[in-house]
Amino acid sequence: MAISVFDLFSIGIGPSSSHTVGPMRAARQFVVNLDKEGLLLKTHSVKVDLYGSLALTGKGHSTDLAVLLGLEGNTPEGVDPNLVKSKVDHIRSHHEIKLFNKQLVPFEEATQLLFHYDKQLPYHPNGMRFHAYDETGKELKMEVFYSVGGGFIVDHASASQDKHLGEESHFLPYPFKTADELLKICKENNMKIEDLMMANELTWKSKEKIEKDLIHIWDVMKACVLRGCEQEGILPGGLNVKRRAASLLRLLSDPSRPKSPAEVMEWVSLWALAVNEENAAGSRVVTAPTNGAAGVIPAVMHYYEKLIENASEKGIITFMLTAGCIGILYKEGASISAAEMGCMGEVGVACSMAAAGLTAALGGTNEQIENAAEIGMEHNLGLTCDPIMGLVQIPCIERNTMGAIKAINAAMLALQGDGTHRVSLDQVIATMRQTGLDMKDIYKETSLGGLAVNVPEC
Ligand code: SF4
Repeated sequence: MAISVFDLFSIGIGPSSSHTVGPMRAARQFVVNLDKEGLLLKTHSVKVDLYGSLALTGKGHSTDLAVLLGLEGNTPEGVDPNLVKSKVDHIRSHHEIKLFNKQLVPFEEATQLLFHYDKQLPYHPNGMRFHAYDETGKELKMEVFYSVGGGFIVDHASASQDKHLGEESHFLPYPFKTADELLKICKENNMKIEDLMMANELTWKSKEKIEKDLIHIWDVMKACVLRGCEQEGILPGGLNVKRRAASLLRLLSDPSRPKSPAEVMEWVSLWALAVNEENAAGSRVVTAPTNGAAGVIPAVMHYYEKLIENASEKGIITFMLTAGCIGILYKEGASISAAEMGCMGEVGVACSMAAAGLTAALGGTNEQIENAAEIGMEHNLGLTCDPIMGLVQIPCIERNTMGAIKAINAAMLALQGDGTHRVSLDQVIATMRQTGLDMKDIYKETSLGGLAVNVPEC
């Protein structure tokens, strides 16, 4: 599978990459396909079925809103988060939807957007089925999509071959599937991991464009932190979770506050909280590699930029290319979907990516980078996904602070060594995969176990 760093860092909206970004992309793809096949203007009604984890936690993760927006042709990166509510309110109050912004059809959400809580489609827990009908009620088209984590979608045919949608045979000069292969290729070609990633990325766009786009993504991450630090009040969804980033910023900025030896950790936590509170509010975030875990990497990048002497834009690019490379290893060897791997696939992977990125930005060797990534995941093995009320709030928001702190510690441990270590990254990815397979479904983004059932909702 040819995966780009820009597949792992994509601009979207909260609260979930698998349950918001992916379903919006899938719904949009369905109407794009209808249009391409000359069926859109013949369509007089549509129906959408959501299965498995999408059904069980879809309401809390705004999957319903995402599907409606996607059917109207919106993209996660293009839709204005401030207009989401009014667009959806319009569909709901008028009982009609404008497919691909071209074909207005009646739409009764209660009967045309169905949540199948006890059924699952064959290839992945996050399945969706889209139907289009003509004026006589005859089915014009039916398509199945899966949202496989991090906003990636696959159609039914691709799912059986483990490909992502639109993936053609794309030639990469340095293909790799495992960390061992990655390190071997780097050694043979006397390359840093970031150089290998850049060489592969050059098959999609120029170096200038790659660097410009990475810095743009970093700017979006920083804007998200700034917004998160300005917002106060209660997050939506009914769990009554109070935003904390703004008050924490005030506390940390108070010159009369006694110095704390934990101050660095407090700042890192602030940056992660700011992102994940914005994510929970459905705002603009960068999927890194998922939305639920979107705070870990920006928090560690802020740590690098604000607290490391001689931090540079080049270091930021090195960080992102290296972190992206590690994310690819998880996509290839396990999964970044919480519905398959629990929170190991989200905060665990983000922690591992951030640890590797920071190690690279601080000048670590390829072996130290691999070691940091390994430590970052080893101590997240077994991490369950059990969001209360299906909302990406508890434990998700605080968990990102833990992931970010752990990533920095993993980088420090790796940099203190010479890169040799007992457990390899490939071994830890294989362990994660097996642990995810062994984990009960109640701990895999279904909100049927863990905190989701042991904490009263109100
Ligand atoms: S518990 Fe982890 S995996 Fe589950 S929704 Fe929250 S952040 Fe995502």
